[in-house]
Amino acid sequence: MSWVRFEAAVENGKLKVKAPSEEYLNKVKVSANKVGDSFFLSETDVQLLALALEFKATGYTTQIVTDDYSIQNVATQLGIEFAPLATFGIRRLLEWVRYCPACRREYTADYDSTKCTVCGTALKRKPRKISKKL
Ligand SMILES: [Zn+2]
Repeated sequence: MSWVRFEAAVENGKLKVKAPSEEYLNKVKVSANKVGDSFFLSETDVQLLALALEFKATGYTTQIVTDDYSIQNVATQLGIEFAPLATFGIRRLLEWVRYCPACRREYTADYDSTKCTVCGTALKRKPRKISKKL
């Protein structure tokens, strides 16, 4: 379902998918090495930073939304703005549970149907309750 929505968003122009060029990937890698964060950055992190840098170079205002300290650190080094998730009212990453509103059966977030296998009702979703035990 999320993939269908993703594709729809790309088709109607609400979402753009872009890969950074080699030039900016290298700039980020050099910068990450300098501050010692290269070990902590995933390939996706590096691509994200490279894309932000590339957009910035072409005159766009960019902002990376992240709570990852290594990304923030390298972003600072490169002069890229960032904001923590809390800025947008997001306190933590939610884990979703899908459930049937009729028979209460629960499904995992990646269950690949929109309907309950038992009664055929359209599934809904809710955030998984986080245990308060330490
Ligand atoms: Zn059901």
